[in-house]
Amino acid sequence: DSAAVDRTGTPAVELDGVIRRYGETTAVENLSLSVREGEFFTLVGPSGCGKTTTLRLIAGFEDPTRGEVRFGGESVTGVPPEDRDVGVVFQNYALFPHMTVGENVAYGLSFTDPPGGGSDAERVRELLELVDLGDMADRDPDTLSGGQQQRVAMARALAPGPDVLLLDEPMSALDAKLRERLRVQVREIQQELGITTIYVTHDQEEALAVSDRVAVMHDGTPEQVAPPRTIYREPATEFVATFVGDNNVLSGEVTAVQSDGGNDQRLADVAVGGGTLSVALDGDYSANAVSIGDRLTFCIRPERLAVDTGQNAMPATVTSAEFLGETTRVHLDWDGRELLLRTEELPEGTVTVGFDPADAHIVTAGR
Ligand code: ATP
Repeated sequence: DSAAVDRTGTPAVELDGVIRRYGETTAVENLSLSVREGEFFTLVGPSGCGKTTTLRLIAGFEDPTRGEVRFGGESVTGVPPEDRDVGVVFQNYALFPHMTVGENVAYGLSFTDPPGGGSDAERVRELLELVDLGDMADRDPDTLSGGQQQRVAMARALAPGPDVLLLDEPMSALDAKLRERLRVQVREIQQELGITTIYVTHDQEEALAVSDRVAVMHDGTPEQVAPPRTIYREPATEFVATFVGDNNVLSGEVTAVQSDGGNDQRLADVAVGGGTLSVALDGDYSANAVSIGDRLTFCIRPERLAVDTGQNAMPATVTSAEFLGETTRVHLDWDGRELLLRTEELPEGTVTVGFDPADAHIVTAGR
């Protein structure tokens, strides 16, 4: 490596047009991603969408059928996993049962090349303190809780000082409360080290909670790559809109495009079922991009629907409700369409729900 090469701004990890096939099955389809230095980047999606395959391609356990993986701008084609400077933590932490916690972490250190400064014992202690297990070096792994074992696995993966940390569903075997605690710890450790981290999960809430950016995967391809807030508020596709959180997706033909004199907002009237709903035209869908006769698909979050607002009135019938503590999730039938409403009150019978046109988000519009 020439010291003269300026790598400022070079992505830490890139996948460029990567395809991975297994016989007839395409696990990863034309995948291009750039992960920035120091970023917490999450791959989220339903079972079978290609998350694990993507991570294995980055780690070097698999080779692309086509396309290229690059680390710091350089191709790693043909570079075996042990030479990629990655630390990997899997779902089943697989600690060595016949070694103590400290020995497990020291095993990770044996991959340090050249050996780091300080003694191994000191480094093991530092790593265990990092994962908040400073006093557990002499314990056997099977005397630890699942969450503690997973943190030991993380310390072991971090021991050689890798450039990139790869985590594949590291918490999926743990109970919900523990997962929530551990994800905060994982994020803190990542921030403390500033290590580029690629995280795989099927849990969309977890993805939103910990990540700098999220790639929502579907059928081997990312449908949207964006920060959590953008994914939630401005889903790019119908799949993203419904996979991440609850959503109401409605579509119909545009019957009018008008300006709302008051606040200079442009609105489209959309014929949905027997009614007409107004949605704000903004962002990619300014008034010029949408015309009468277009088919428009938009979404509105259940917490943005309200009872008796007067705007965009949809008379609906309550079909069921789930009490969730903080809110109640109410299933409604509006003219044969299912709507979801989040509310603190529990409505019964027939209710009229509505929404502010500015709270609707347009997913697609066109002929
Ligand atoms: P999960 O959340 O269930 O682990 P995933 O999103 O991680 O799913 P992958 O494990 O990457 O998905 O699998 C993507 C697709 O590729 C699936 O259809 C899977 O059956 C297939 N696949 C993965 N590995 C292999 C393999 N070694 N041989 C054959 N098919 C495979």
